[in-house]
Amino acid sequence: MIDVIVIGAGWSGLTAAARLASSGRSVAVVEKSRGPGGRSATRREEGFIFDHGAQYLTARSDAFSRQVEAWTGAGLLAPWTPSLTVFGKRPDHAGESPARRWVGVGGMNAVLHRLAGGLDCRWGWRAESIEFDRQSWRVRSTDGQLLEACSLLVTAPPAQSSALLGPEHAFSGQLDTVEMLPCWSVMVGFAEPPATAFDAAFVNEGPLSWVARNDSKPGSQSTSAWIGHASAAWSRDNLEAEPEEVADALFAAMTELDSAFNRPSRLCLAHRWRYAMARAPLDGPILADDGRKLVVAGDWCAGERIEGAWISGVAAAQRLASVL
Ligand SMILES: Cc1cc2nc3c(=O)[nH]c(=O)nc-3n(C[C@H](O)[C@H](O)[C@H](O)COP(=O)(O)OP(=O)(O)OC[C@H]3O[C@@H](n4cnc5c(N)ncnc54)[C@H](O)[C@@H]3O)c2cc1C
Repeated sequence: MIDVIVIGAGWSGLTAAARLASSGRSVAVVEKSRGPGGRSATRREEGFIFDHGAQYLTARSDAFSRQVEAWTGAGLLAPWTPSLTVFGKRPDHAGESPARRWVGVGGMNAVLHRLAGGLDCRWGWRAESIEFDRQSWRVRSTDGQLLEACSLLVTAPPAQSSALLGPEHAFSGQLDTVEMLPCWSVMVGFAEPPATAFDAAFVNEGPLSWVARNDSKPGSQSTSAWIGHASAAWSRDNLEAEPEEVADALFAAMTELDSAFNRPSRLCLAHRWRYAMARAPLDGPILADDGRKLVVAGDWCAGERIEGAWISGVAAAQRLASVL
């Protein structure tokens, strides 16, 4: 029997899995998507490359700053210094602060690809049910595969983690209190680059909250690939709309913002992130049930964003290592 099953190949799951594996534990990572990334995924369509989830990362803690420096030294991350602007008034907006931003070289999932490369990852493996039986965890996939391990790390968003654990587990009540805000994302590929005066913009008016030129990121192999993110309020109001309608509405909002976008697109797609970001993250890097050797982790436990996911993943690995 292996030591740990990790559900989810985003920042928190892969950070924990890589640390546990490098300390000699046997680990299997199961991920419902075809590759690593989760909400930090990179999508390739018709020659265009889009970071349609997380845009960049920032580092506030010393520990994560050191890690970012190491990944930068390894060529996986690079600083991104876009020409930034802000539409609409909101004085506390981060767009006006001199935050340092890093991006994955070639896509936001560059680090995650590297971490996954050294691990036993099962792609397209959706955990449907989990079961604890005195000494071990059994995880079953939607297509009937079974994995068994001494311990379990769940890193799915709170509603999905709660559904896996079931209503009787002590964590479910806490998980159900974490509200995740949605975000519709639009990906637009242009034949000719729009002549905007900026690479990225924080938007505080209309349906959008952010637009960015993906090919302004270091190491991008893409041409004229723009991302737009809708605000949480607009995304919530249009949560069940058809993706084609959303793509048209958000592209129209981009052209309202700057007439330079008013040109034919070669590609215009929308993606819905139903659980994009925690409105109010929990106060603690993980939820741990030592008796059952179970940990639940994710950005929503530790201050949201990539740094929070990494902090949660590190804490998860430490806790599981201490009980294994
Ligand atoms: C639109 C958007 C913009 C963002 N912008 C930024 C930004 O600019 N900077 C920043 O720092 N952060 C940003 N974030 C947040 C950042 O993406 C997250 O903090 C981080 O990616 C969370 O990592 P995680 O591992 O905790 O969760 P996730 O990335 O959600 O990973 C969980 C994984 O579990 C998998 N999974 C779920 N259920 C199952 C199951 N049953 N079986 C198998 N696998 C399962 C999922 O497919 C997923 O891969 C943004 C997020 C979104 C959506």
